[in-house]
Amino acid sequence: MRVGVIGGGQLARMMIPAAIELGVELRVLAEAEGMSASLAADRIGDYTDTETVLGFARDVDVITFDHEHVPQDVLRALVDAGVPVRPGPDALRFAQDKLLMRERLSELGLPVPDWARVETPEGLDDFIAAHGGAAVVKTPRGGYDGKGVRVVRSAAEVAEWFATVAEDGRGGALLAEELVDFRRELAQLVARRPSGEIAAWPVVETVQVGGVCSEVIAPAPHSPGRLADVAADVAITIAEGLGVTGVLAVELFETTDDRILVNELAMRPHNSGHWTMDGSTTSQFEQHLRAVLDLPLGGTGCHEDWSVMVNVLGGPAQGSLTDRYPEALAGHPTVKLHNYGKAPRPGRKVGHVTAIGEDLDEVVYEARAAAAVFQD
Ligand code: ADP
Repeated sequence: MRVGVIGGGQLARMMIPAAIELGVELRVLAEAEGMSASLAADRIGDYTDTETVLGFARDVDVITFDHEHVPQDVLRALVDAGVPVRPGPDALRFAQDKLLMRERLSELGLPVPDWARVETPEGLDDFIAAHGGAAVVKTPRGGYDGKGVRVVRSAAEVAEWFATVAEDGRGGALLAEELVDFRRELAQLVARRPSGEIAAWPVVETVQVGGVCSEVIAPAPHSPGRLADVAADVAITIAEGLGVTGVLAVELFETTDDRILVNELAMRPHNSGHWTMDGSTTSQFEQHLRAVLDLPLGGTGCHEDWSVMVNVLGGPAQGSLTDRYPEALAGHPTVKLHNYGKAPRPGRKVGHVTAIGEDLDEVVYEARAAAAVFQD
C-alpha cells in the first residue's frame, strides 16, 4: 500500500511514523528541499503543475494532502487519470473557497454566522450597517492562520482586498460575516472512509492568539452531553453532505447565547487534532491514512481524562529547539514533544507539546511550562 502526500509540511511529517507502524509506504511531493517532511520526500516539485503531480501519482495507490492549495484543474487531471484522490476535488473545493463553503453549509441547513457575498464596497457598508456597525471580512481563497481575515467598521479598511479579488478572475467577491460574540472556539474532528464509515473524536476547545492556534484542550471542558452531541452531528452531516474522505476538522464557535456555529473546514489532519498522537487510541495521522486507504477506522477514546496540546510558536530567538532539550526534557519528562524540524522564525509553528492526565489544571500547567522552555 502506497500513499502519496502532496505538500511537505509538518502534517505530512507526522504521517510518517503512523505509516511506518501500519506498514504503509509514504511518498511525499515536497515544495522545496529541507521541508518538515523531507525525510519521506522522494520528489521535490510544484504542486500546481499537472505533469509534475501526475508523475508523482503514478507510483502510489492514493493521493492525499498536507494542505488544501492544489488547484482544482490539477486534482481533476488526477481523477481523469484514474488516481484515487482523497478527499476528492468535489469535496476539497469547499475547503478551498470560503464563499462556496458558506453557500453549501447554508444549503445543508447547518448553523453558520450570518454572511453575505459582497462584490462592492457599498455592498459591504450595507452589510456592516445591518450588523451593528462591524463585520468580519474574509478573502475567499488562500487565507490561513488568520491571514485574509479582518474585523472592519468600514469597507474602506479592505479597499485593497476588493482590488485584489477583482483581478483574480474568480468573480471578484469577498465574504462578509457577522462579528460573532463567542464564548470560546471549539473544533470537532471526524474521519470518513470512502465506504462510509465515520469515527469522531471528542469535541475540543481551541485557543487562538492573533489568529493562530496556541492551545487545545481535549475534550472541551463542560462539553459532554448536548454540546458534544451537537458538534459531532454537525461534523458528521458535513462529512457526509460534502462527501469528505480522510480527516475533516470543523472549527466551531460556541456563542454567548449557547449556539454552535460553523466557522471553518479543513479536510486533512489539523492542529486541533495533534493531541490525538499522545492522548487517543488512534492518532489523527493514523486515522487519516486508514481513511484514505478505505481501511477500518481505529478507536477514538482517550488515554486519560484530559489532553492539552500547546504549540511552540516561533521557537528560541537564538539557536535551535534542540539546544533547549536538556532543560525541557529533564524538567518535563511526562510531556511529549513533537519537533517539526523547522528553523525558528517569529510566529512560525515549529513544534508542539502534549501533556495528559487526570487534573486539568496540572495538565495545562505542565504543557504550558514545557512549551515555554522553547520560547523566549
Ligand atoms: P483562517 O482560515 O485564516 O484560519 P478563520 O476563518 O478560521 O481564518 O478565522 C480566523 C480567526 O478569526 C478565527 O479563529 C476566529 O478567532 C476569528 N473569526 C473568524 N470569523 C469570525 C467571525 N465571524 N466572528 C468573530 N470572529 C471570527
